[in-house]
Amino acid sequence: MEQTLSHYFGYTRFRPGQKEIITNVLNQHHTLGVLPTGGGKSICYQVPGLMLGGTTLVISPLISLMKDQVDQLQTMGISAAYLNSSLTMKAQKEIETQLVNGELQFIYVAPERLENEMFLRLLRHVNLKLVAFDEAHCISKWGHDFRPSYQAVIHRVLAMPQQFAIVALTATATTEVQQDIMTSLGIHVSHLIKTSIKRSNLIFKVNNTYQRQKFVLNYVKEHQNVSGIIYCSTRKQVEAVYEALEDANIPATYYHAGLSAKQRDEAQHEFLYDRKRIVVATNAFGMGIDKSNVRYVIHYNMPGDLESYYQEAGRAGRDGLNSECILLFSDRDITLHQYFISSSTADDDYKEKMGEKLTKMIQYTKTNKCLEATLVHYFEPNEKLAECQKCSNCEAQNKTYDMTKEAKMIISCVIRLGQKEGYQTVIQVLRGEESDYLKHQNYEGLSTYGIMKSYTTGELHHLIDELRFKGYLNEYDEILMCDRSVEQLLNEDVQILTTPFKTKSKERVNINTVEGVDRHLFNALSEVRQKMSDQLDVPPINIFSDYTLEEFAKRKPTTKQEMIQIEGVGSYKLKHYCPQFLEAIQNYKTHV
Ligand code: ADP
Repeated sequence: MEQTLSHYFGYTRFRPGQKEIITNVLNQHHTLGVLPTGGGKSICYQVPGLMLGGTTLVISPLISLMKDQVDQLQTMGISAAYLNSSLTMKAQKEIETQLVNGELQFIYVAPERLENEMFLRLLRHVNLKLVAFDEAHCISKWGHDFRPSYQAVIHRVLAMPQQFAIVALTATATTEVQQDIMTSLGIHVSHLIKTSIKRSNLIFKVNNTYQRQKFVLNYVKEHQNVSGIIYCSTRKQVEAVYEALEDANIPATYYHAGLSAKQRDEAQHEFLYDRKRIVVATNAFGMGIDKSNVRYVIHYNMPGDLESYYQEAGRAGRDGLNSECILLFSDRDITLHQYFISSSTADDDYKEKMGEKLTKMIQYTKTNKCLEATLVHYFEPNEKLAECQKCSNCEAQNKTYDMTKEAKMIISCVIRLGQKEGYQTVIQVLRGEESDYLKHQNYEGLSTYGIMKSYTTGELHHLIDELRFKGYLNEYDEILMCDRSVEQLLNEDVQILTTPFKTKSKERVNINTVEGVDRHLFNALSEVRQKMSDQLDVPPINIFSDYTLEEFAKRKPTTKQEMIQIEGVGSYKLKHYCPQFLEAIQNYKTHV
């Protein structure tokens, strides 16, 4: 088992749960594996598939996933193909012939294909050893992405005459969904193998900013050379955010179901091949996107339930390196989801369930508790967790800043300005800036003019945002006005706390988890990988993951023997890809 893992994949150790799942499958037990995103579910059918010989049938609900997986297997010298409607009839026929002739170790199909009688007949002549149900939560009505066609094909698969094991895999499954999958596929509860859904390399943040667009622009500017996904809830919003990035000259691409299949493929391709570092998308993007080096996922809007959130956010950091998952939200998101539920045509039971899920999602945005612990608790109520000490709530608890003095100054200024100015003027007055408008309005003579000179515009923005969030200020038609509660603040002993905003803009994700990585060499090796990716037309991370490149840049191997020791280098890759990397490392060493 270990030998197959290292020969093909170049990995030395199994991740938690993998070995148990594989052993179970090799013993011919139908198995449900629940591993977190990035936990390595593919290996759970790929390794036993290779070991059992014959053909493994992988049923997967998304076309994009199949292509990525097949490309990856092929870069390891494994014979694999997928069958779906994106292929020409001729290409489909060729693959069917290969399949019947036993030339394919892996065949990927969408569930709908199994509704086709011809295909089923053909499948009966295939030496099937293993059937994998990927993204198995789509089978369950209680999952967040129920696909009726997936449920419908199960009995057809179970009725196939060959002797084969079944493995179902999913990342986010509540106990109820797990039960549903096991009942549907005839999996005994003793063959449920799950590991903690916790992913320690993810840093969760919730931000109730009123200026989402601005937040995003600042954030992506600070994270220029890494890949990220920005999820929005509507197509319109996707386009608006994309345009804002474009206006700011930040290269990005966008993706939603309203685009043609060709446009969507292109967007995905540009992202996967590192030609565009940012993709702005609706939740139509990403299921099955195997891009392991996504360093951040920003949700521009709050999703309707924690399963969707965790799954989408979990597309960050699949390579195990530190990554951020940031949720921006406003109360308007809540109203929208409530509307979706109430106007849905589903039965009352279902609506009630969705309502409960929405409540949990809202709680996540409002809680003061550790975000990681809150998420894990939702999926695994019995798992005891220590606070993560790195999410935005843990950080806020550790460090608070008393902004009462600043709050009073800002509110006095808003009052002196007659409650008829917006952010920009209020900030300019507080900072004592000079402008024709301020002069013309006689604002320079106000007692609050220049009382917060030492604060930056960004810091004042943050403080005003906080006062809005806490309900002291309201904004109507871009005009800041005081709420009645300010009287209390001005006259009584009230304390207002915020996060230490003065350090805020400097907070960054530390993405260099491999210590001692030579960044110059890493960049040089990334270029080699990018060139190779262009030549071979495969995504850069299929050649080597960022983790493997970091290891190269740390250990600087100069021989094949040294290189094979590194995680992610298997025999096939050693022979076909490593020479160019060895050369680059040698060059680098002689020139530095
Ligand atoms: P998911 O569970 O999200 O489907 P994948 O199967 O795509 O995860 O695996 C995520 C990443 O982790 C991939 O790049 C994969 O090659 C890598 N991986 C999987 N298993 C191991 C392992 N045992 N050791 C090192 N890397 C692994």
